[in-house]
Amino acid sequence: PAYEEPAEARRPDITYDDIGGLGDTIDQIREMVELPLRHPELFQRLGIDPPKGVLLHGPPGTGKTLLARVVASEADASFFLINGPEILGKAYGESEERLRQVFNQAKDQSPAIIFIDEIDSIAPKREQVGGEAERRLVAQLLTVMDGLEPRQNVVVIGATNRVDAVDEALRRPGRFDREIIIGVPDQDGRREILGIHTRGMPVAKDVDLEGLARVTYGFVGADLAALSREAAMDAVRRILPDIDLETGIPAEKLENLQVIRADFDGA
Ligand code: ATP
Repeated sequence: PAYEEPAEARRPDITYDDIGGLGDTIDQIREMVELPLRHPELFQRLGIDPPKGVLLHGPPGTGKTLLARVVASEADASFFLINGPEILGKAYGESEERLRQVFNQAKDQSPAIIFIDEIDSIAPKREQVGGEAERRLVAQLLTVMDGLEPRQNVVVIGATNRVDAVDEALRRPGRFDREIIIGVPDQDGRREILGIHTRGMPVAKDVDLEGLARVTYGFVGADLAALSREAAMDAVRRILPDIDLETGIPAEKLENLQVIRADFDGA
């Protein structure tokens, strides 16, 4: 599982150009997370503590994980991923230990971002879900967050699609005290995201991404990525009958391969 990896944190090589439709949100996260990670001296000079914890709030598939990875990449920071339900599922005592470990590794490899996906699952309002495992894990999360010093240069980003379900104790000053809303993209946003996911594809000239953006009301980034991927696979399926997989694909077949309008008909 993803959260077992952090022995050596990965530094993904992606940029803000890989995210579409988030507009001002990028500026917000740059100011809250990238700036303090890259230039802690600025905050020291002013005598203010940069945020320790930021909550990303929005529906599934809108790019919360992608955004956190991109910020890590742009800030040249290590990236650690903790999946809420996964860590909660560990045996007695192991989840707390794991949490502690990840925080220690992040401090060792700072600047670092710790991303906690589905944070509401490990930190639900305590009065609501009385599970013993959740209670201990929230307590541990509070302990490790409170133990982070500004100079250690670690930011924790939590993602949730149910922000009211997150334990209030976690949202106090010095913990997850900033919130960024990641919305469902509008038509312009969808156009941008389609552009990103078809960037490397040989798309036929008459494919109208603007028109596709218009008819995909309600699609989030993950849906648009899937749509683009499926369209490309349709192009593959179209030429499959003409090729002999044993002898290889003739260069001119590859050359002429295009993703056409009909391939996007899933929209
Ligand atoms: P979840 O809440 O389900 O974890 P999420 O908000 O973290 O969802 P991601 O996992 O970041 O969403 O999105 C899944 C994939 O969808 C991304 O890897 C990317 O390919 C695509 N995607 C989502 N949002 C965007 C976006 N705004 N721009 C470009 N691609 C996007």
